Amino acid sequence: MARCSRSAIVVDDDPLLQRLVCSLMERRGFDVRGAISVAQAREKLSEGDADVIVLDLALGDEDGVDVLEHLASLGSSAAILPVSGFDRRVLRSAVHLGRALGLNVLEPLRKPFTSAQLTEALDAIPVNLLPVAESELAQALTDDRLLLRYQPKIHLQTGRIVGAEALARWTDARRGPVSPDHFIAIAEEGELIHRLTRRVLDVALADCAAWRSAGHDVGVAVNISARSLSDPDLPAQLEDAVHQVGLPPNALTLEVTETVAMRDVDTTMKLLTRLRLRGFALSLDDFGTGYSSLVELHRMPFSELKIDQSFVTRLDKDPDAAIITSAMIALGHALGLEIIAEGVEDESVAQALREMGCDHAQGYLYDHALDATAFRQRLAAD
Ligand code: C2E
Ligand code: MG
Ligand code: MG
Repeated sequence: MARCSRSAIVVDDDPLLQRLVCSLMERRGFDVRGAISVAQAREKLSEGDADVIVLDLALGDEDGVDVLEHLASLGSSAAILPVSGFDRRVLRSAVHLGRALGLNVLEPLRKPFTSAQLTEALDAIPVNLLPVAESELAQALTDDRLLLRYQPKIHLQTGRIVGAEALARWTDARRGPVSPDHFIAIAEEGELIHRLTRRVLDVALADCAAWRSAGHDVGVAVNISARSLSDPDLPAQLEDAVHQVGLPPNALTLEVTETVAMRDVDTTMKLLTRLRLRGFALSLDDFGTGYSSLVELHRMPFSELKIDQSFVTRLDKDPDAAIITSAMIALGHALGLEIIAEGVEDESVAQALREMGCDHAQGYLYDHALDATAFRQRLAAD
């Protein structure tokens, strides 16, 4: 799961300076952690990587090179802003060293610096690393700038399209494309997720109704987030929404990730049962990444299992992945579920899945997520 807000770690053994840098970063929306030694920096990093790390290269008797090496061993993708009172040559060699270790080291800042110089250095951090505010996403929804793409779901034996998964896309004017994992997490922090889910459903259902009026017998799948699953009004709202566009409820599949479904089994079970009773299809997304027990899987009213791409993409190269996938397909079928594999990128994987008896597939081998027009054309040519 993506982190919700952008995080920063400020490593500096000067408490005053550390407080100044921390407060400036907090004002920019970062969730900031401070460290005054190499040991503390390691401790903070053990809690998770950061988006930005401000790193003092001289930490009392220790030096920041240890921190750089530690960051490299962790495979950190943070933007690192080195600061130091040493002369420019020392700073430059630290930058070279960090970059040679594969780290994303920014142009350094020399101490002493003014708050204006620090602001300027922070401004130079690529804009796509800046925190996304909930209000920006809310505005994008209001302005109708959140778009849907459709990734076809393919019948493995016939190669024909059986439906599509709706995937949300948001391109911010300053940042460029923002990953759905990131903006969905921001929306989930507050009430915005309900507006977002509602919008995605309205657009996806209207598009699906248009495909069916054009004679294509296909359904649409929408991802439902954890917060929406705890909304007791959801079944009635969905019933209303399909009714308004004249679709039968089984044209809509609700995808729920395994970790979300198993978080609060009793509440989820109640809602999922009410959704199934109304005729909606339910897919257990990213199956294999959570810890659902066989008993829970048996009790939950899913109609489809979606095998996570981490097993599927390496199916043809990794015998363990093949054994696990084959077992998941047999298990799902024994429980009366349809099986779809996501992340099918190669024909050899598709062939292996066909031999294992998997029903449906989705992945770059067939199509990326297409805009509504391209998807319609794809359907017409099918
Ligand atoms: P997901 O539901 O598991 O969606 C599948 C992800 O795998 C999509 O990424 C898709 O573009 C990507 N993918 C598809 N085929 C392949 C392939 O062959 N190879 C590889 N490597 N990847 C493939 P995307 O669009 O970035 O979405 C990421 C996640 O964001 C989704 O995972 C879903 O959990 C969430 N999401 C997207 N749209 C929505 C939405 O409208 N509402 C909610 N609640 N979540 C959404
Ligand atoms: Mg999904
Ligand atoms: Mg998935």
